[in-house]
Amino acid sequence: MTEGPERLTLSPGLCASCRHAEILRSKRSAFLRCARAAADARFARYPTLPVLSCRGFEAAPAGGPDEQASGG
Ligand code: SF4
Repeated sequence: MTEGPERLTLSPGLCASCRHAEILRSKRSAFLRCARAAADARFARYPTLPVLSCRGFEAAPAGGPDEQASGG
């Protein structure tokens, strides 16, 4: 059974097409996490959306950010 949001409630801006973006979904909500933040403190782990400008942006190969269930 699938419950919870299928999509982010806010437009992610640049993150929508960035290879470093990951979408974490729980039963109640969805979050966009920036994977660059794990190795570089200049990036926020959960950036304020929409991201309109980002020096870390790199285009995703296809399909936008990966989606993962957060287990919550
Ligand atoms: S590097 Fe920038 S554009 Fe890419 S996911 Fe992180 S915050 Fe978003």
